[in-house]
Amino acid sequence: MQKHQILKIYGTDYKGMTKRLLTEADLKERIPGKGARIGIKPNLVSPTPASYGATTHPEVVAGIIEYLQENGFRNLVIAEGSWVGDKTAEAVSACGYDELVGQYGVEFLDTQKDGSYKADCKGLELNICNCVKEIDFLINVPVLKGHCQTKITCALKNMKGLIPNSEKRRFHSLGLHRPIAHLGLGIRQDFIVVDHICGDLDFEDGGNPVVKNCVMAACDPVLVDAYVCSLLHYAVQDVPYVEIAQRLGVGSADLEHAQILTCGIWNGNRLENQKQSERKEACQTDSAIQSEEKAFWQADNESLPLARKVVELQDAVEEVESCSACYGYLLPALERLKQEGLLNKLEEKICIGQGYQGKTGQIGIGRCTKDFIYNVKGCPPTEDQIYEFLKHYIGSNYVI
Ligand code: SF4
Repeated sequence: MQKHQILKIYGTDYKGMTKRLLTEADLKERIPGKGARIGIKPNLVSPTPASYGATTHPEVVAGIIEYLQENGFRNLVIAEGSWVGDKTAEAVSACGYDELVGQYGVEFLDTQKDGSYKADCKGLELNICNCVKEIDFLINVPVLKGHCQTKITCALKNMKGLIPNSEKRRFHSLGLHRPIAHLGLGIRQDFIVVDHICGDLDFEDGGNPVVKNCVMAACDPVLVDAYVCSLLHYAVQDVPYVEIAQRLGVGSADLEHAQILTCGIWNGNRLENQKQSERKEACQTDSAIQSEEKAFWQADNESLPLARKVVELQDAVEEVESCSACYGYLLPALERLKQEGLLNKLEEKICIGQGYQGKTGQIGIGRCTKDFIYNVKGCPPTEDQIYEFLKHYIGSNYVI
């Protein structure tokens, strides 16, 4: 597989189709020796099962592990840290990774408990978890999702799980886009397996999964994110970190010269696609196909529905440097109020983010707005806490 290619496979046998895709991509040839320490970086942003649309399916990671172990690679580590406000250990349990590591005898490294080192990432010094230094070959396994602050999240942003919590907060105070792009230089992604099974196209922490039953393989994180922009109906310019990463030399966002290819649907035993069915007609017998079974690649023309819930909800918010979890909990809470016909009764803008520390105002979310007249406590407060607080606030204002 080449750097300008993104390979896709469809199906519902997530483990089997991932293994087949990795076989087709010839992943093993990219790894520098059987003893290489291979890092696998899923997205366990919060403690919700993958079907919720936020976290990486354990079956996809199982497919990667089986493929690697069957090809003689034994030095594997899964490394991840949940977002600020949630404990990785809870996500590991809720997402089924405790069973996964037990079943395959693979180490899990909680980066929330790891130390860190400073790395000069082309003019921007960033703190990166120590475990990254020990990894010889990194396989990034992000979920293709929408994001309430950066619009999309996939390959580049998933590396935030390999920095300490304090640095995650600092990323937001730096405006998110620039540090995400520079982090692409501090942590090299050697291979990317995208979980495009049922990501939420609006919210990073899920709740509105859109089922696509697809897994992708690629080796350029910038190309992957540029492709995600196009799938989610954004121009690359709409997501500044993709452009900045390209400028820094992390990869190429040139979709015009990219090849987006699918080998079809994995039915649990073999691949099915248009070219194969043409071949079946020509061969007349199933056994003729099976005897020569190999993937036939053809252009992939997937399209996704336009998802813009976030944009509508953002009108109710004044956000300055808020952490992902805080903002990620606020928007679904607003969506619930909107569904109940309550959101349009809120006359004041809701303030959120580190930029409000030490400031005063009417209504604010989280510890950073503790000096506001009305404030939801917590760092971050949960979606339920925000929802209950705002519902009460709107209700009492409404009566007045
Ligand atoms: S209260 Fe402030 S520091 Fe805490 S999660 Fe929210 S934005 Fe971040």
